[in-house]
Parts: sequence; C-alpha cells; structure tokens
Amino acid sequence: MVVSLSRLYLLPTSSQYPAVNLLRMSLDDDIRQTEGFKNVSLGNVLAVAYATQKDKLTFLEENDKDLYIKWKGPSFEVQVGLHELLGHGSGKLFVQDEKGNFNFERESVRNPETGELISSWYKGSETWDSKFSTIASSYEECRAECVGLYLSLNQEVLSIFGHEGADAEEVLYVNWLTMVRAGLLGLEFYTPESKSWRQAHMQARFVILRVLLEAGEGLVGLQEMKGADGQPDALITLDRSKVHTVGKGAIQRFLCKLQVHKSTADVDGGRALYEGYSEVTSTGSHDFLRLRETVLLRKEARKMFVQASTRVKGESVELVEYEGSAGGLISSFVERFPEDAEEVEAQLLELSKHDARYWS
Ligand SMILES: [Zn+2]
Repeated sequence: MVVSLSRLYLLPTSSQYPAVNLLRMSLDDDIRQTEGFKNVSLGNVLAVAYATQKDKLTFLEENDKDLYIKWKGPSFEVQVGLHELLGHGSGKLFVQDEKGNFNFERESVRNPETGELISSWYKGSETWDSKFSTIASSYEECRAECVGLYLSLNQEVLSIFGHEGADAEEVLYVNWLTMVRAGLLGLEFYTPESKSWRQAHMQARFVILRVLLEAGEGLVGLQEMKGADGQPDALITLDRSKVHTVGKGAIQRFLCKLQVHKSTADVDGGRALYEGYSEVTSTGSHDFLRLRETVLLRKEARKMFVQASTRVKGESVELVEYEGSAGGLISSFVERFPEDAEEVEAQLLELSKHDARYWS
C-alpha cells in the first residue's frame, strides 16, 4: 500500500534514508507471532531518496555510480519489501508460557549451530526486547536486512517484484552494492568518544559490511585513497561474480547465527556476536576510525522534502509548487499555514532552539 502523507517531513530521522520510508505496525514479536502485522510504504518520500546526482555519489566506481542511479529505486523496493515482510515477519521465538507449555517440540528441535537440543528459551513474560535490551533494535534490523539480502538472490523472488533476466541481476547487484556502501556511510552514526552507535539501521549495515569483508575472496573491496581534491577518500567495490557464492554463503551463515540466538533467547551468545561485529577500531583489516573521518568529510547534504500546496482561485483549485531549496521549504510552510503562521513560526523556532544542542 502506498500512501502520501502531507506533513511527513516533520518526522525525525537520523537514517541515511530520508524520513521514515516504511512503517511497520505491531512491533512486538508476541503480537506478530499470533496476530500478524501490516506495512505502509511512503512512496512520496522514497521518490526523494532515489533522486541522487552522480557527482554527489561517494565511494563508488564510475560504472557502479551509473548502475546505482539506474537501479537504486527498484532494488530498494525489493530490499525494503523483503526486509519488512519476510525479515521482521519471520523467525519463531521459542517460548514456555506461564502454565509451563512449550511452543516447540523439546525432544526433536535441534540448534543448527551445535546439533544439540534447544537448551534456552523465553520464559513467561520475557520478550525479545526485555532480554536483548540495548542491542535488540539494531540486532533485529540487521536480521531483517540479512533476510532481504539473502532472498534478493532468489530469481523467483525477484520475479514477484517484476524483475527478470539481466535486469534482475542488476537489481540484486545494486541491492548488495547499496548495502556495503551503506555500511561504510553508517560510520557517520558512530561516536568514538562513547564507543556507541546512534542509529540502529546504520549499525546493522556496518555489521553486514564487516561480515561481507570477513568473507574474503575479493567479494568486497574497501580502499582508502586520496581524492581528486587532494583530500582523503575511499572506494568500495563488490565483485558481482562472487555475490551468489561467497556473499550468499556468508550471509546465510551469519543470518542463521542471528536467528538461533534470537529464537533461543541466548543473550550472551547474541551479544558477543553482534557487539563483536559492531566494534569500530583502527586495528584489523581496515582503519574504520580513519574511514569514519573520511565519511564525515564527504558527507552529502541532507535531503529536504519540499511539499507542494494548493490554492483556491475562483471556481478552481490550482497547484502551487516551490523551488527545491531551503527557501522553497520555508515558503511552502509559510503559505500552508496562512492564518496561524506566526504561532507556527514561534513554535518551530522554539523546537529548533530545543534541539540546537544536538547539532554540531
Ligand atoms: Zn526494519
């Protein structure tokens, strides 16, 4: 379902993608497992996300930039659809209810990682969020992103989204390329001083980048270099001939681990795995702290969503459009609220003052 919301740009976001582009309802696993869930895709916001100029596309080879611009929209639709519906929408939690009943067969279900019978589960009122607390949200986003990546390799899945043959290959390549680039861009949302992540999705994408780098065999290349302007730059590449083999295997193994820890309420195992890949250091195969500086240096200006308005003229209604700039955004606001403009302005100023301490 695609809906258009007129004041969407008021929604806060710190993600790479502007505003909230897809909302999932019924967030709790217990509701999802027993009742179901729904999604809405905010098509008007996504259209803004797709509008990227080539010269502003960072960290990609020229050829990849062209592919990215051409296929970003369709590939993102595939990824988001799979992420929400089959990512968040899948994965049973093993539960023992208050009466002592299990929702799985204790004598036959085995942990695919160890081959042993299941030895831990959620008890009574325990939930995913209460058990995994601080990492629950990012970990879950990571699991959903992995489901999207993995299933986007499936021809039948791509065909459901309307992509066949050579086009389908481009869609899945750009989907994976977008993910590894997002993993690098995600470093913007890491704070070295507190060694913490400020955005669940971007942390999740960084974790996936680490997993795919670790897969080796030249699947993902990440190099630091000097840009044409003499400033530090970086280049991220993906070997498309290895996505179906090395890439698929790596995501499959990682997703299985994520799922097993989640299903079995294994907080210690899940934390060790997820926090390990979330670590941003200068040691190891890449200097991620230095790469973070480069990401900040090359950061693209935040996209704005300028909303058109309407005006009654005589018997008819005319569309009023504004320039795609900060000025256009302000004009759109001012003309949208002609009666209470002063009050709205005062409130917006108040809000911006309130948030000012978060700006750097
Ligand atoms: Zn999600």
